Amino acid sequence: MNSKNNLKKVVVLGTGGTIAGTASNASDNIGYTAAQVGVAQLLEAVPGLSAVLQGHALVSEQVAQMDSKDMRFDIWLALAQRVVQHLSQPDVTGLVITHGTDTLEETAYFLYVVLPAELLKTKPVVLTCAMRPASSLNPDGPQNLMDAVAVALTAGAHGVVAVCAGTVHTALDIQKAHTYKPDAFTSGDAGVLAYVEEGQVRLLRNWPMANRHQSVPSLEVAARTTVWPRVEIVMNYVGCDGAVVDALLGYAHATAPLRGLVVAGTGNGTIHKDLEAALRRALQAGVKVVRSSRCANGPVLPAAHCEFAHSEGLSPVKARVALMLDLIGR
Ligand code: ASP
Repeated sequence: MNSKNNLKKVVVLGTGGTIAGTASNASDNIGYTAAQVGVAQLLEAVPGLSAVLQGHALVSEQVAQMDSKDMRFDIWLALAQRVVQHLSQPDVTGLVITHGTDTLEETAYFLYVVLPAELLKTKPVVLTCAMRPASSLNPDGPQNLMDAVAVALTAGAHGVVAVCAGTVHTALDIQKAHTYKPDAFTSGDAGVLAYVEEGQVRLLRNWPMANRHQSVPSLEVAARTTVWPRVEIVMNYVGCDGAVVDALLGYAHATAPLRGLVVAGTGNGTIHKDLEAALRRALQAGVKVVRSSRCANGPVLPAAHCEFAHSEGLSPVKARVALMLDLIGR
């Protein structure tokens, strides 16, 4: 960690991802290894960063160094604890996290749920990333980092947000929507929160409110959870017969108990009758079932007489995080 005393600070926590990736060939934007370059070195490679720092000192810390496809619950907890530690300091104005794009939306949502609302009411946590490795001919990471710092230091900024390709998304709405393009994320129906233009944030709607969910475990309770509840995602599709659910019930019975299932239904959360029958068997076995949709846009509207909980507008992966935390909090 490096720091300068007596100055207001912006903290950058590194976790790896493509933004820290390198390839042996500069023109190779897919055959790279993620999480190779340390966060301090990434910051040094951003020309003109001092212009957006507005006299703030930059403090960096490497919390993890990984490809986010391999993200783990213990890293999530360590990250959340470091965020709380830093943001609780009166001289820290805002915090940036570098992260892989693949699971960024899940980490953002997790932080949004577990970080103390008191902290998020006044200070921003800004995740950022890159779709091209640091070694690329035309890397997107440096600009994204600079934009993320600009967002973190914007007056009034607060809550968990993410910045990619000059666009700011809330933790609640962000979804990775493209496999390759630098502008890989969408906020769906909700629309983006803001754009970053030449270091200035053009806000389109209000900074996000703190988490609206009630049954949330405190970070301390989550940190004491050694084995997270097993919650799996199953999808509805043509010919879906629910065998996956029965297999999960059998497997989980033999090993780690299945505690929850999120079903990524078709359309407005519709479910093949045979999958539905299997999900009912899961309910009877004490498994929580949450209905979401495989559609990228639109919430699942609650249906009358449906025995499954609905995802309250969350995508399947975020509904899974919510259900795990809900089970931990019980
Ligand atoms: N697999 C990488 C990761 O999520 C992809 C990226 O960062 O764009 O860490």
